[in-house]
Amino acid sequence: EAPRQIAVLGSTGSIGKNALRVIAASGGRLQVAALSAHSQLDLLVAQAVEFSPRWVVATDIQVAEKFDWSKLPKGTELLMGSSELNRVVGQPQIDVVLAAIVGRAGLESTWAALDSKKTVALANKETLVMAGPLVMQLARERGATLIPVDSEHSAIAQALRAGQTAEVERLVLTASGGAFRHLSQNQLKQVTVAEALEHPNWDMGPKITVDSATMMNKALEIIEAHWLFDVPSERIEVAIHPQSVVHSLVEFVDGSVIAQMSPPDMRLPIQYALYYPDRVGGVAERLDWGASFSLEFSPPDPDRYPALELGHQCARSGGTSGTVLNGANEAAVGSFLAGELHFTEIVPACRSVLQSHNFESDPTLDRLIDLDRWARQEVSHWVFA
Ligand code: NDP
Ligand code: MG
Repeated sequence: EAPRQIAVLGSTGSIGKNALRVIAASGGRLQVAALSAHSQLDLLVAQAVEFSPRWVVATDIQVAEKFDWSKLPKGTELLMGSSELNRVVGQPQIDVVLAAIVGRAGLESTWAALDSKKTVALANKETLVMAGPLVMQLARERGATLIPVDSEHSAIAQALRAGQTAEVERLVLTASGGAFRHLSQNQLKQVTVAEALEHPNWDMGPKITVDSATMMNKALEIIEAHWLFDVPSERIEVAIHPQSVVHSLVEFVDGSVIAQMSPPDMRLPIQYALYYPDRVGGVAERLDWGASFSLEFSPPDPDRYPALELGHQCARSGGTSGTVLNGANEAAVGSFLAGELHFTEIVPACRSVLQSHNFESDPTLDRLIDLDRWARQEVSHWVFA
């Protein structure tokens, strides 16, 4: 069998680097066809030297034009600007596109990959949060396969292989509870950027690490699960599970619950998506059945985690709400990381922007892109500076 040719979009990020370790360990079954990075161009060049891709895309033109590219391998073509991504993902030799750019910036390239009938391994949940119905419709129309990389959604997709979609009673998304699950409301007001960037179980990029601490990550995942699996919001639950070993569960109509378990290691859902429908040995960590361990589950307190209700609300109403929530959250997290917004203001800012927007039930992609800009602008009223 010919090697599977992979485009890794966002190769310098946490998911991107883990994906390259999966590919490096594939014994030639997986090959890198394209890489993309935004600011870490030294790392991009080092990755190109190791993996000899046909293309590298440096998405930030200003940074790319100033960079010394002399160490880039001769056989690798350099492209600059995010619009080049949309062209590269459609190249005939590419089989799988790993969408691992963070946030709204990943929308167009994910869209372009589906539009060119590629199999998309989707880490970029924000694309589905923003434009779930349009993205799912595009995938259906083109006959493109969309495989979630987000560990919860990978777990659900794996559990669903054991049953029929029509037999699903509910989806249960697990949540670690984030970095601050032991803090009081008062203590939460004081948390610093450095504290918010420490996650107990996962080593991830800054945006999703903050999202985990606010529980907005789980809100986005409720929306993501709703569009991916076509399950209504009231049948998507969240369970706090501090060990992050059960990655999510599917309850079937007869009460049987199927869970997917593995240590917290993103290489498993990445390799599941890249090799799909096969399973291979791979490099992900394994549970140790020679040691004893226990797993806890508890329902989340809605007062402590008000973000969850926003996720349910957006999954229920659809239309423009996912884009507005996502845009507001990206801006609020950016402001928090810049020291311009308190941690405890992130979710209230998002709620307020969501409530003040003019809801439309059937927006176009262009309309969503405009609204994303509007939502970010609205958050600027919340920053102190
Ligand atoms: P990182 O911040 O670690 O990496 C983000 C990647 O996107 C980097 O390669 C970065 O390039 C690139 N990038 C940043 N901004 C832009 C832009 N404007 N245009 C193009 N590329 C850009 O994020 P993660 O790897 O943690 O997350 C990636 C996605 O996967 C997110 O959507 C996240 O929600 C999702 N995800 C991540 C998980 C994880 O374990 N990390 C788990 C589940 C989902 P550079 O670094 O060169 O600037
Ligand atoms: Mg997740």
